[in-house]
Amino acid sequence: MSTARTALETEEHQALRAAVAALGKRYGRDYMTTVIREGKHTDELWAEAAKLGYLGVNLPEEYGGGGGGMAELSIVLEELGAAGSPLLMMIVSPAICGMVIARFGTEEQKRTWLPGLADGSLTMAFGITEPDAGSNSHRITTTARRDGDDWVLTGRKVFVSGVDIADATLIVGRTEDARSGKLKPCLFIVPRDAPGFGRNQIDMELHAPEKQFELVLDDVRLPADALVGDEDAGLLQLFAGLNPERIMTAAFGIGMGRFALSRAVEYARTRQVWKDPIGAHQAIAHPLATAHIDLELSRLMMQKAARLYDEGDDVGAGEAANMAKYAAGEACVKAVDQAVHTLGGNGLTREYGLASLITASRVARIAPVSREMILNYVSHQSLGLPKSY
Ligand SMILES: Cc1cc2nc3c(=O)[nH]c(=O)nc-3n(C[C@H](O)[C@H](O)[C@H](O)COP(=O)(O)OP(=O)(O)OC[C@H]3O[C@@H](n4cnc5c(N)ncnc54)[C@H](O)[C@@H]3O)c2cc1C
Repeated sequence: MSTARTALETEEHQALRAAVAALGKRYGRDYMTTVIREGKHTDELWAEAAKLGYLGVNLPEEYGGGGGGMAELSIVLEELGAAGSPLLMMIVSPAICGMVIARFGTEEQKRTWLPGLADGSLTMAFGITEPDAGSNSHRITTTARRDGDDWVLTGRKVFVSGVDIADATLIVGRTEDARSGKLKPCLFIVPRDAPGFGRNQIDMELHAPEKQFELVLDDVRLPADALVGDEDAGLLQLFAGLNPERIMTAAFGIGMGRFALSRAVEYARTRQVWKDPIGAHQAIAHPLATAHIDLELSRLMMQKAARLYDEGDDVGAGEAANMAKYAAGEACVKAVDQAVHTLGGNGLTREYGLASLITASRVARIAPVSREMILNYVSHQSLGLPKSY
C-alpha cells in the first residue's frame, strides 16, 4: 500500500511521519491489547512520545513545545493509530487544552500547564457534554458564580474521557448572568481532587484504555485564576479548542481506518480458498480500494483544516475541520467494516484483533460532534439552507 506522503507535506512532516510510525511499530496493537486486558493505561507510550517531543509538537517553544501546530500534531496521532496504538488523550490534552491555554491563558497558566502538557508529566481532560444538552451545547447548564474572588461551579457532565488520569479537567460552563440566551462559554481548570468534583465511570462497550466519566460538580470552589481567558470572549475561545479537537478526531479515524485496512490487505493477499488469493476477487478488492481512497481524501481535508488553523483562520478552519471530521469518521467506519468482512470468520476472532474496532470506529462518527450535526452545519453554514431545529 502506498505511504501517507502527500504533496501537501514538507520534508519535515514526512520525516515526522516516518519517525512516529517507527515508534508506533515498536508498540502497536499487541501493546494496546495487553494494556487494555490488564486494565492499565498507555503510560509507557505516552511518556516515550512525550520525550521525543511528539506530544507537545504543537505547543509554543518558549513553553517547552515544538513550535509547530495542528499539522504536526495530527500527523503524530494518525501515525500512532495506523500502527494500532492511538493515544486518545492527545485529542484532549495537547490539542484542545494546550491550544486554548497557549492562545488565551494568562502567563501564569501557560507556565503552569504548557511545559507539563508538552513533556507528558501533566495531562488534562476536557468536559463540555452534558446529559440534558448533548449535541445542543447552547443548552449547557453548568454554571459559575462569583463568590468574592473565587468561582463556584455547579453542574453535571457526561462521557468525559480520561478524568481519572488527568491532573485537571477543562470544564466548559457559563456564568450566572449568562444562564439564558445564546451560549457564552467560560472555561475553568478544575483540579482532579477539587472538593465537590465527583466522577463515576461509565460502563462503555469500548475496547480502549481511556475511560469515560460522568462528572458531578457540587459547588466546586475555584480560585479566580481557574478561569482561562476572558469570561466575555465567548465562542471564539471555545472554538480555539474545538477545531483542534475535530482535526484530531479526524486523525484518530484515519489512523484507525489505515490500521484496519492494512490488516485486511495483508490477509486478502495471502488467504486462498480458490485458485487465487481472495484479494483477486473484485468483490473483496474494490471495497478495500474505496476505503483507501476515502481515507486519503479525508486526510487532504484534515491537512487543509490544520493548515487554516495554524495560519490563524479560525472561521475557515471551522468549516474544514467539520468536513474533515465527517469524512474521516465515515471513512474509518467503512474501512473497519470492510476489513472485518475481508477476514471472514477470522474478522470476529480475538486473535486478529479487528472485531473490537467495530465499536471503537463508531466513536469517530459520534464524537465530538456527530455526523448529523456536521451535516446540519454544512447545510446551514456552507449552503445557506434553512434550519429545522
Ligand atoms: C468514547 C467517547 C468519548 C467522549 N469523550 C468526551 C470528552 O472527553 N469530553 C466531552 O465533553 N464529551 C465527550 N464525549 C461526548 C460526545 O461528544 C457526545 O457523545 C456527542 O457530542 C453526542 O452527544 P450525545 O451523545 O448527547 O448525543 P445526542 O445529542 O443525544 O444525539 C443523539 C443522536 O441524535 C442526533 N441528533 C441530535 N440532534 C440532531 C439534529 N438537530 N439533527 C439531526 N440529528 C440530531 C445525533 O446526531 C445522534 O445521532 C465522548 C463520547 C464518546 C462516545
